[in-house]
Amino acid sequence: MRFDPDVTLSVLKFLGFEQVFKNSLTGLPMGGAKGGANFNPKGKSDREVMRFCQSLMTELHRHIGEDTDVPAGDIGVGGREISYLFGQYKRLENRFVGSLTGKGLTFGGSLVRTEATGYGCVYFCENMLNHAGDSLQGKTCVVSGSGNVAIYTAENAIELGAKVVTLSDSSGFVHDPDGIDAEKLVFIKSLKEVDRGRISEYADHFSRAKFYAGQRPWSVSCEVAFPCATQNELSLDDAKTLIGNGVLAVAEGANMPTELAGAHAFVNSKVLFGPAKAANAGGVAVSGLEQSQNALRLSWPREDVDTKLKSIMSDIHQKCVKHGQANGYVNYVRGANIAGFIKVADAMLAYGVV
Ligand code: NDP
Repeated sequence: MRFDPDVTLSVLKFLGFEQVFKNSLTGLPMGGAKGGANFNPKGKSDREVMRFCQSLMTELHRHIGEDTDVPAGDIGVGGREISYLFGQYKRLENRFVGSLTGKGLTFGGSLVRTEATGYGCVYFCENMLNHAGDSLQGKTCVVSGSGNVAIYTAENAIELGAKVVTLSDSSGFVHDPDGIDAEKLVFIKSLKEVDRGRISEYADHFSRAKFYAGQRPWSVSCEVAFPCATQNELSLDDAKTLIGNGVLAVAEGANMPTELAGAHAFVNSKVLFGPAKAANAGGVAVSGLEQSQNALRLSWPREDVDTKLKSIMSDIHQKCVKHGQANGYVNYVRGANIAGFIKVADAMLAYGVV
């Protein structure tokens, strides 16, 4: 579920199409869909956001449910919005079920769901690097975005020994040559998640960091890039800049952030390129685990969910290698497309021809 002024039917169509094959890759029993509204939550009060969520759910509750479509967060839809949506669902349906995921921990949410997309993206990237005989340890990383996916991508990359030097939002990017460490990330979480502030304020707070208005971070030299903001945020020229600067791996935290020509450039240059449907599947995978916990009326410990997430990302990586490896290079785009498609096609054939 996405709330963003740029939402159109065409955007939801590509997101929904990709979601089908992404969910297939997770190995979990889930179909795929996407929804949203061109409502802009920026600058709105909590009560205005609440009223919008309640109005939306007043109609939407007829179309979703634990065994039909199960919305989760996306751009502009985080814990606050899911809570308001779920509250209204429960009010109207008088049922406490896993009809939305990304719920709060006090009402059926899963540990690690907040972190899952970003953490999973980093696990996938580490799998790509390990397969090539390398790792994230000591690598300089450029991350775009400063929302849910970007923050937890940065957190896990730092945890695995990488140096994260950028974050961004729609107004520009910050470059911190010293690296964003766990302590600085606490500041960013509070800035973005509590105060709903702008990333430029990071540069006001940490004197060595610099803010670049209206720019994206791809000109900053790095070994690993994580586009984690939005679609089409990495052009062919950006890809060429990254390749020129010696990038080894690119893992897409956002959905389709790399334009098609840019993706081709990465593959042609033998950069390890993890496409969104594989690299960012961790979020929906833990949404699936949240549904399982809701159905069982259980809450699994953090370590259990994180271990399952790691294992799912590793399985997806293996599937990509199986279908994408040729002449010593893994084409992860090809691998993910084939592996995702086969399961869907087999299921449709098994259902019988209509
Ligand atoms: P958030 O709303 O939490 O964060 C979005 C971030 O991207 C913000 O920093 C935002 O900046 C920036 N951004 C949005 N639009 C633009 C733009 N046009 N140009 C530059 N920056 C922009 O969303 P998420 O982190 O949840 O989602 C980010 C991406 O990850 C999306 O592509 C989403 O589809 C994908 N994704 C998310 C999942 C999840 O679990 N949340 C799961 C799988 C994929 P600003 O605040 O200025 O708008």
